[in-house]
Amino acid sequence: MKSATKYIHAGSHPDPSTGAIMTPVYQTSTYVQEAPGVNKGYEYARSQNPTRTALEEALAVIENGKFGLAFSSGVAATDAVIKLLNPGDEVICANDMYGGTYRLFTKVFERFGIVFRYVDTTSAANVEAAVTPKTKLIWLETPTNPLMNITDIASVAAISKAHKLILVVDNTFASPALQNPLDLGADIVMHSATKYLGGHSDVIQGALVMNDVELRDKLYFIQKSCGAVPGPMDCFLVLRGIKTLGVRMKAHCENGKRIAHWLKDHPKVSKVYWPGFEDHAGYAVASKQMKGFGGMISFELKNDSVEEAKRVLSSTHLFSLAESLGGVESLINHPASMTHASIPREERIKNGLSDSLIRLSVGIEDADDLVEDLAKAIG
Ligand SMILES: *Cc1c(COP(=O)(O)O)cnc(C)c1O
Repeated sequence: MKSATKYIHAGSHPDPSTGAIMTPVYQTSTYVQEAPGVNKGYEYARSQNPTRTALEEALAVIENGKFGLAFSSGVAATDAVIKLLNPGDEVICANDMYGGTYRLFTKVFERFGIVFRYVDTTSAANVEAAVTPKTKLIWLETPTNPLMNITDIASVAAISKAHKLILVVDNTFASPALQNPLDLGADIVMHSATKYLGGHSDVIQGALVMNDVELRDKLYFIQKSCGAVPGPMDCFLVLRGIKTLGVRMKAHCENGKRIAHWLKDHPKVSKVYWPGFEDHAGYAVASKQMKGFGGMISFELKNDSVEEAKRVLSSTHLFSLAESLGGVESLINHPASMTHASIPREERIKNGLSDSLIRLSVGIEDADDLVEDLAKAIG
């Protein structure tokens, strides 16, 4: 089945009690049993909920995986993955990941004795060099947030397999419409469903998709034991969001391309980070592993001061100044003071994330209006 069809039909079955075409919001905490131990597969809603089951099935289908698990947020999904590990185990991860992932790793899991090795994963050789006998897991994010660095998933998957590690890819920025890490050899795909999967900035949710049943069982055990499950209304919203993922991502890619090129030609812009440029370091790999370059763009101004960046950030009208991304409406963000404020300044600058960097989540409004808005703000 082609993806556009999958997005609309994945996980949808007419409701058995009424025939309702849309999965009902099963707003319940428990299920009445016919006799002790005799039930319809649903016992208590932390463990199972039919709206969540439908969503988890859809998640698996759209990422070309066998099993999906939904969580109360993206970081809750990440949290569940790291709980597969034991004290002393090592994780290799990218040095410019999502700030909340970095915070979870350094401020929470380091206290439990998990060791994180931050490397530039855009070179698979760096990943290989960081492997020790204690390494258990590799955590990738590609494209990265906010510098749009690209890691070759298949090359890292080969290293991961050779050392019998678990390869996890945070696929939030690409979405399943542009990149399917399981097809490239990853073991687990993670999503902040808050972003492109939900697509309408109205829900916080996370997702994991995998093929291995043992891994699924372990993660399901963590999901129900730790309890970071999404409510049924949130599952309904993400199910609905997924239906338009195909058309939305097409529009995000078109608008992203138009704005990236417009910015690149602008006399007051010094640098534009977007993987669709042929002179972007990750262009060849992105062209190979992605079906489109997306609507996430970062740029720096020739006047490289925080003041000038802040002036532009406060001057747009259609681009709303806000954290987050992946919704139908365009957002503008200052990583240094917003999404990435939890990363120490020296660490940020070292990784190329300057004080004046501006990040755009290009929405699906008319591109002419978006260009006009940016033109007025940049001046
Ligand atoms: C937002 C985001 C997360 C965290 O997801 P939440 O739903 O906010 O908990 C993780 N990774 C990336 C790349 C993100 O953009």
